Amino acid sequence: MPAAGIFEGARALESDESVDRFLQRFADDESMRETVRAARAFVEGFEAADPAIASARAIADEWRSGVDLTSARPLGGYPPMLERLRNACAAAGVQTCLSTVVRRLSWRRGAVAVETESSWGESRTLHARAAVVTLPVGVLRHSGDETEVVFDPDLPAAKREALASIEMGHAVKVALWFRTAFWERLRDGRYRDSAFFRCEGLPFPTYWTQFPLRSELIVAWAGGPKAIAMSGASQSELIGRALSGFGALFGEHELAREEFEEGVMHDWGRDPFARGAYSYVAVGGGNARAALAMPVDGTLFFAGEATSNDGQGGTVNGALETGERAAREAATSIGATA
Ligand SMILES: Cc1cc2nc3c(=O)[nH]c(=O)nc-3n(C[C@H](O)[C@H](O)[C@H](O)COP(=O)(O)OP(=O)(O)OC[C@H]3O[C@@H](n4cnc5c(N)ncnc54)[C@H](O)[C@@H]3O)c2cc1C
Repeated sequence: MPAAGIFEGARALESDESVDRFLQRFADDESMRETVRAARAFVEGFEAADPAIASARAIADEWRSGVDLTSARPLGGYPPMLERLRNACAAAGVQTCLSTVVRRLSWRRGAVAVETESSWGESRTLHARAAVVTLPVGVLRHSGDETEVVFDPDLPAAKREALASIEMGHAVKVALWFRTAFWERLRDGRYRDSAFFRCEGLPFPTYWTQFPLRSELIVAWAGGPKAIAMSGASQSELIGRALSGFGALFGEHELAREEFEEGVMHDWGRDPFARGAYSYVAVGGGNARAALAMPVDGTLFFAGEATSNDGQGGTVNGALETGERAAREAATSIGATA
């Protein structure tokens, strides 16, 4: 049975269960051992989720609705796509305020005031008939210090309940840059066409090459509990761990160190504008994504990956599609065209 298929049974459960609890059902079945291991590794690595918290039913629904498990990447990265979106917005007369933080959103039916502060200290209040909110769940859930985005009045109870059922996953990703793609030469070129290397026992269980592109770049990846376990470590510690794990994969510590040029990482968990990697649904949170996507009073509209309800949660596709959906909803509400 493929790993994703194991969750099919979760759809028939009387009540939702955590991924951990659901997989426990197969604990005594020796023939399922490898499938269970792969399913857990996927929930942690791909969904960046904690299996003790993640909803087995939501995983079943999302994977069934056609989640793309391939590892395609846009050639040239995301900048060309962002450039295209920016040009389309500029052509439509949209003003963009970069490096500007939203502090407070005051709203009533048909009127929104957004208080902002720029990185050069300028405060501005923007007024509109409607707002599309695309803040990450980690930011929407955060409260209690000066980085909180205050909604005045607070978001309705249904929205807050939805937010309580959607967790931010954790991922640590370290890019390692080498002088040469030395792994391609090892063992008579055995690893030349490898797209990734995996070893569960390492702090970073997955290392991605850029194959089919030839590159000296390796991306070390840890998701879920493994990523949480690394929170608090410094950037140089994490780069060191990623490098030493990559050397360990081939029994080539020295060579990896000699070839290493530079490492880069970003900690999304500690980034106040993200507060996690991307979202997943917690046990019992069946319709939380749909509830989060619902407009409020024809005035606040919600987009972003966490509001995607068709298997695209946690993805760039989900962010793009829900952005278009929310823009259409807002335009309809104020009688404009999207
Ligand atoms: C390590 C990692 C790897 C990933 N890999 C993939 C992948 O391979 N494929 C894939 O499809 N997806 C991947 N994703 C997920 C993808 O990046 C997200 O799903 C997508 O970016 C979500 O878009 P969004 O617009 O919902 O949220 P975000 O991209 O988080 O955008 C929210 C924006 O709000 C801004 N913001 C936050 N607070 C404030 C504030 N107070 N005021 C003003 N602005 C604010 C943030 O700066 C940010 O620009 C990955 C994510 C991570 C972290």
